[in-house]
Amino acid sequence: MADRTAPLDLIAADSLLSEEERAIRGTVRAFLTDRVRPHVAAWYEAGDLPARELSHELGDLGLLGMHLQGYGCAGTSAVAYGLACLELEAVDSGVRSLVSVQGSLAMFAIWRFGSADHKQDWLPRMAAGEAIGCFGLTEPDAGSNPSGLRTRAKRDGGDWVLDGTKMWITNGGIADVAVVWAQTDDGIRGFVVPTETPGFSARPVPPKLSLRASVTSELVLDGVRLPQSAQLPGARGLSGPLSCLSEARYGIVWGALGAARDCLETAIEYSLTREQFDRPIAGFQLTQQKLANMALELQKGYLLALHLGRLKDDGRITPQMVSVGKLNNVREALTIARECRTILGANGVTLEYPVLRHANNLESVLTYEGTSEIHSLVVGQALTGLSAFS
Ligand SMILES: Cc1cc2nc3c(=O)[nH]c(=O)nc-3n(C[C@H](O)[C@H](O)[C@H](O)COP(=O)(O)OP(=O)(O)OC[C@H]3O[C@@H](n4cnc5c(N)ncnc54)[C@H](O)[C@@H]3O)c2cc1C
Repeated sequence: MADRTAPLDLIAADSLLSEEERAIRGTVRAFLTDRVRPHVAAWYEAGDLPARELSHELGDLGLLGMHLQGYGCAGTSAVAYGLACLELEAVDSGVRSLVSVQGSLAMFAIWRFGSADHKQDWLPRMAAGEAIGCFGLTEPDAGSNPSGLRTRAKRDGGDWVLDGTKMWITNGGIADVAVVWAQTDDGIRGFVVPTETPGFSARPVPPKLSLRASVTSELVLDGVRLPQSAQLPGARGLSGPLSCLSEARYGIVWGALGAARDCLETAIEYSLTREQFDRPIAGFQLTQQKLANMALELQKGYLLALHLGRLKDDGRITPQMVSVGKLNNVREALTIARECRTILGANGVTLEYPVLRHANNLESVLTYEGTSEIHSLVVGQALTGLSAFS
């Protein structure tokens, strides 16, 4: 199969990958090209995706909890996981979100902070795509500042009882298990909540114009009674959910580049075949300047992602580094998607081409897992030593 990355790889960045990494990427790309890409625009238009069916297939490929060890997870390197995220998001950010939330948020929370029983009960099924997970941190009145969350877990005899509302929860309406973060008398704690528990319900958020091929839900917890053992024993305070977010953000650092790559490839192909003033629009200097600037940003973003991936595999990555990567790569990907849209003219606003779909998706990616403003403040604090958060 032709390597669709090659024309954009102006600096042979691919030579920095191992044979195994390239092989994993090729397998993921082949599956997505065959199984997902032909349908994704229709899913986007319908505002849905066949998540359960897709999860089984993604599980068979080893993409769910891909970089985790044990419990049926593939245990690949962080770089290989990043490359998979890039390929997934080259098809659609919604499909990458399904995989990120499953693996990096719900499974990672259980894998890192859960009891032996939590891990044994949930991780093998989640890795296989037989069980879907979601991660409930955000609330209607607690977004960028999760310390303000109001969902409450109270002890009642030997049980916990959870009350509250979670908002904007990816996979919420289709999940078998929700990792829910709540206030307790001992601060914020995480809970493993089977969604069949009485008092748990999910409903769709208002219609979205972004990330349409992704299920986003409001979760209502109304007297959800859980055994003592439902609490994640290893997570204390906000550092628990924040470490999960750092995992997921790492995938976004790579994923956003996939959306940008797909836009740029589309724009190059289009500009070579679209003629105006008796010549391909690719021959105009203004078009070439746009293409050149976009290709440079894509390559720089790729080097950044790969550098962070190697640091992660070496155990040396920090949340601040992930903020640098998410801030830069999502921002540049969104700029690229919008610029590509201009090259496609009127065709660029249709679903026949992926560029506006990607641009719209990237609006959500810019906001979730820490907004661009919040990541700017992280970088600002690192540079000045001063916190400007509040
Ligand atoms: C499609 C989608 C899927 C999502 N999936 C999940 C999920 O699975 N689980 C989950 O828990 N959450 C999820 N989220 C929620 C997401 O993480 C939040 O939307 C995000 O954290 C921002 O919160 P908010 O929307 O309440 O915005 P707000 O926090 O209200 O922010 C609004 C604006 O104010 C700015 N702002 C806030 N504080 C500051 C400050 N101190 N300084 C400067 N500017 C500031 C923000 O940057 C932003 O521009 C999802 C969101 C979307 C859109």
